[in-house]
Amino acid sequence: MADSLGKLMFITLGCAKNEVDTDRMRSRLMAAGYEEVDESVQADCVLINTCSFLASATEESVTATLELAEDVHDGIRNVPIVMCGCVPSRYGDDLPEQLPEVASFVPTQDEENIVERVDAVLDVHRSAPAFVPSTLRTVEAASAYVKISDGCNRFCSFCAIPYIRGRYASRPAEEIIAEVRSLVAGGVREIVLIGQDTGVWGSDFADDTEGPRTLAELLRSVAEAVRPERVWIRVLYLQPEGMTNDLIATIRDTPEVLPYIDIPVQHCSASVLKRMRRSGSADELEKLFERLRNEIPGMVLRSTAMAGFPGETEEEFEELLGFLDRVGFDYTSVFAYSQEDGTLAATLPDQIDEEVKIERAQALTDLAESLGFAATAAHVGERAEVIVDGVEESDGVREVIGHAWFQAPDSDGAVHLDADEATVGDMLTVEFTDSFCYELVGHVVE
Ligand code: SF4
Repeated sequence: MADSLGKLMFITLGCAKNEVDTDRMRSRLMAAGYEEVDESVQADCVLINTCSFLASATEESVTATLELAEDVHDGIRNVPIVMCGCVPSRYGDDLPEQLPEVASFVPTQDEENIVERVDAVLDVHRSAPAFVPSTLRTVEAASAYVKISDGCNRFCSFCAIPYIRGRYASRPAEEIIAEVRSLVAGGVREIVLIGQDTGVWGSDFADDTEGPRTLAELLRSVAEAVRPERVWIRVLYLQPEGMTNDLIATIRDTPEVLPYIDIPVQHCSASVLKRMRRSGSADELEKLFERLRNEIPGMVLRSTAMAGFPGETEEEFEELLGFLDRVGFDYTSVFAYSQEDGTLAATLPDQIDEEVKIERAQALTDLAESLGFAATAAHVGERAEVIVDGVEESDGVREVIGHAWFQAPDSDGAVHLDADEATVGDMLTVEFTDSFCYELVGHVVE
């Protein structure tokens, strides 16, 4: 290999979708002759992939950038900073003035040109365009996120994503399947399909597009592509309207597709949902989840609930608590509403006091935990497949960590195994002997 053109350090903030974006940029840059390092002191350039989903995420992104910028400003380090992702997408025009220490801003729409942008920062001149690798992933973990779409057309009134990421754009099926094949060939044992709204994948394709055109068809094609390897396929972030009959049947009848669904409902009260510019009611949502549990054996449900949306009355909040209690999701993420610049909800009257929002979010969290901990404890005594994610050592004690099929990687807890020898990616049959919070203790059976 030719000498490295420069050493790059990557910092990723935010969600799994951002990890995928970083990985794609990393892959392009490595193929173009750059090298990755872990410490900013060794780096010729630091890339920060930012998140701006909530005001708190923007703050975290800007703080991380400022900490580095401060060192540059004080002359401790002289490392150019490239800020990528959602913060430049959302606040692009104002940023150069506010963050003069940042050498380049790369909004999400421009990340395909990351090599040119970093070349410009490091004054690298090429005689020919940089090589673009056929696979844009570099992961070494047992589970890999594969992005199937970007953007969103729903414009929920509280959410800035459609303004940051733009209109919904499905990724072509052949590109997704090629990436899945290459990940599985590289040893990945779990494919997690993600996007802002995966249920409508394919809805923006031209009428004459060949191949899969719905999420259900895509799942069947991905399952076919991974065979004969034993690989789990998981799909995250569906909206309730995306649960078609075909999709339910596909999840039920395709062995590789896990009976695990993440449907972020946010709320259940019809009046709150209407103000959120979402549809449905507690009754409709309950019927949907009941149907999923009845028709898909072993169905595991994850959701998201929001406390303190503008105008949320005590009755509407109680309705949400009652709904969550009745549905009993296996996992629920809870957020307090955050007033986001540029969104419709930020302009609504009757914004809820911060204190009340926090109180309500805490009550939702308490309920979500009591239901989630009980759902986790219910697996004690069962046997299930577990994928090994890594080995942790603390105070001389070595522990093998994995996750079961009913736990999404990085979000739903882990399984602590008594295995002596295990390698990342091993798929083991495990009997669960104990649980604590969302974690399980497991004994390897085979
Ligand atoms: S569906 Fe999700 S990403 Fe799209 S606007 Fe609503 S909350 Fe935002």
